[in-house]
Amino acid sequence: MRTPLLAANWKMYKTVAEAEAFVLALLDLAEGVEVGGVEVVIAPPFTALSAVAAGVVDTGIGVAGQDLHAEAEGAFTGAISAGMLVEAGATHVIIGHSERRRLFGDTDDAVNRKTKAALAAGLIPIVCVGETLEERDGGEMPAVLTRQLRGGLDGLSAEQVGGLVVAYEPVWAIGTGRTASTAQAGEAHAHIRSTLGDAFGADAADSCRILYGGSVKPGNVRELVAEADVDGALVGGASLDPESFHQIVAGGRGAGL
Ligand code: PEP
Repeated sequence: MRTPLLAANWKMYKTVAEAEAFVLALLDLAEGVEVGGVEVVIAPPFTALSAVAAGVVDTGIGVAGQDLHAEAEGAFTGAISAGMLVEAGATHVIIGHSERRRLFGDTDDAVNRKTKAALAAGLIPIVCVGETLEERDGGEMPAVLTRQLRGGLDGLSAEQVGGLVVAYEPVWAIGTGRTASTAQAGEAHAHIRSTLGDAFGADAADSCRILYGGSVKPGNVRELVAEADVDGALVGGASLDPESFHQIVAGGRGAGL
């Protein structure tokens, strides 16, 4: 049985003060409406990690970095290591988001090194995969996902794969308002799970949570997570407002059921 996971990716939004206000508002809302049975993770910008971690202490809500460097330390201006994320209060880290791949040149090999560094530091990786519109139109979706998974997770143990999170984020659905249909999401998630099964065995594939990401909103989260292999959502734009994210968390309860 996989516990549904709803993760907020704030990207480069929210100052420390705005992040603190969000956490207070979300906790207020969560008191009013029962959202038990799901896990919640918030990925703020690095600068607000400690503040968010302090705000959610003892609530069970996790905190994620949005990226990390594979090395523990060094002359890497602007980068943050796994150990630094842990010290700031992170429990999870997003790796290989399509914006990192497209704008910052993250390759499958970099994703692999970052995933290993995250695991070594005790962080739960949220490894993002997804095809572009051109790749989907060319019938390449399964091959792209297989390549990203095999490359990104190469050398990991079955146990490590069973404990991490994969996020299927079709690039054409991120920040576009265009959501994958439930059938498209279901097909891609089933492909991801079978690829994990082939590479790491049935137990790892069964326990690994696979999130859908791409224009998830309060109005579409329920039907997406009703798909058998969709175990929750990674949410960008709609996670910036506490009310909207709270509704998404409530809607995510049906995931994996
Ligand atoms: C994301 O950035 O991971 C994402 C899914 O964004 P959005 O929900 O805005 O499409």
